[in-house]
Amino acid sequence: MNDVDPVPGRQRFLNGLPARLAAVETGVLLAGKQPAEAEIKAAILAAHSLAGSAALFGRFRLGELAREIEELLNTVSRAGLNPPAQALTDLTERWAAMKALAGLSDSEEDDSAAAGGHGELGPRLPDQDNRQVLLLEDDVELAEEIRRQLAGFNWNVDIATNKLEALALLRGRCYLALIADVVLPEGNLAGTELAEALPVGVSLPPTVFVSRRWDWEARLAGVRADAVSYLTKPVDTARLAELIAGIHDHDDGATRGRVVLVDDDELLASHYSVVLQKAGHEVIALQDPGKLLDVLPVFHPDLLILDLHMPGCNGIEVAKVVRQDSDYSGLPILFLSADRNQRPEREAIRAGADDFLLKPISEEWLVAAVEARVKRSKAIQRLSQRDSMTGLLNHLAILRELEQEASASSRNQSPLSFVMLDIDHFKQVNDCYGHPVGDRVIRALANLMRRRVRRTDLVGRYGGEEFALVLRDTTADKAEELMEGIRQRFAAIQFSAGDKVFHSSISIGVCQVRPGEGVDSIVKRADDLLYTAKNQGRNRIVTSA
Ligand code: GH3
Ligand code: MG
Ligand code: MG
Repeated sequence: MNDVDPVPGRQRFLNGLPARLAAVETGVLLAGKQPAEAEIKAAILAAHSLAGSAALFGRFRLGELAREIEELLNTVSRAGLNPPAQALTDLTERWAAMKALAGLSDSEEDDSAAAGGHGELGPRLPDQDNRQVLLLEDDVELAEEIRRQLAGFNWNVDIATNKLEALALLRGRCYLALIADVVLPEGNLAGTELAEALPVGVSLPPTVFVSRRWDWEARLAGVRADAVSYLTKPVDTARLAELIAGIHDHDDGATRGRVVLVDDDELLASHYSVVLQKAGHEVIALQDPGKLLDVLPVFHPDLLILDLHMPGCNGIEVAKVVRQDSDYSGLPILFLSADRNQRPEREAIRAGADDFLLKPISEEWLVAAVEARVKRSKAIQRLSQRDSMTGLLNHLAILRELEQEASASSRNQSPLSFVMLDIDHFKQVNDCYGHPVGDRVIRALANLMRRRVRRTDLVGRYGGEEFALVLRDTTADKAEELMEGIRQRFAAIQFSAGDKVFHSSISIGVCQVRPGEGVDSIVKRADDLLYTAKNQGRNRIVTSA
């Protein structure tokens, strides 16, 4: 067991919790009674600070309740001696829920967005996993909205609304990333000038700028501030979440990839592969380019390195063959050659090469060239596999994962389950409340699934309001258990549109993949089960026998 407090400040939060809860309780008990002005004010304050801090420590539900209580106390206090009866009832009910929840440890808080697991079914994210992000944004409402949306992607966001607040927060804790507005009260480029104000020894986390400014001066300032990326407003939160995920994964793999090396010179091929393996890449070295077509579909490389001169065929021809397959039209190709003549280089570029390295090449140079290509390739793959609205895998990507996992599960004889689900009567949601509200329902479901599944589970948006999950090492029974939790929680979400509220539900088909079964058959079975669930009345799961 690791007994080091992984989150600085968590202990302080826990220590202060009883006093805050006591203040809230006093306020709740005295609500609507005279004279309770001061107690109510103190309770509002305590609820307010709980609402602000609970989520930072993974206590999301507690934070939500605190916010609701704060609002109710405000209503009651404004109404003086005649508070609305409903508000008092709600207050008592929320307080009871909060009391029950406060007694639980973080891990037992069921809706913890930071948990990333679903109880006994899977591992939680490791505690040393830093998911804390600092957002510097002076538009408070926008900041809250970004915080809310990023919480759906499991990122915990602290908000600073000016430079001073940001500096104070940066001194106090270690952030995975900084998201900063460029224009701040302090100036039109203030967001890019943050580093200058930091004390010696404190450096900025990897930074993403989000701004309405898209002019050269601002973007150059962003580059000079060493930004990872620069996004324009209105901010695309799924894209932002992707960038943060990229920063998060940086240490464990974004620059390390799978490389296929084709060189007829056995000695050089093995030398280069050792160098690249030492740098953390997985390498397959081929002397015979004819093997390439067998290797590509199973190994899924991030980069192909081709020697230009080989007996039988040259590297340019190999590149052309590879590029003819649409699956590999985006695969980066790097040429190696000892030829100092310029002509093959031009030809190689025309054949779709991304770079051309002259032999002999130093180890450092090779590693740097490969790393840069792998990083870019992964970033592009990531974008092309994601649905931009939800950040989930897109249709093609989830099917590709299913195909790979199905053959892996046959090989390893491990169980694999496939799930298809569809929002019930979704057309009515659009018709009654409008398309934007429908979009919100889709995002809420995506966020819920992302939070509830394990890290190894794959979630995709199959189409409009249809989703698919690939669950590794999972029997149909286990899959049903996981999906039942998601079904119940989704049905419990109260959506609001204007002054109307409504609930939505999903129907689910779950099947366990049979050994050797193909993608078409798996999808058809899951889809049939989903159809059965719809016919049996919706808001339910049907699992294959
Ligand atoms: P059922 O319970 O049988 O699934 O009924 P349904 O109304 O959900 O099914 P149907 O397939 O008739 O309608 C799906 C609707 O989902 C139609 C389409 O306009 C809407 N839809 C698809 N994609 C999106 C989207 O991205 N946003 C919104 N707001 N609506 C979408
Ligand atoms: Mg539907
Ligand atoms: Mg549908």
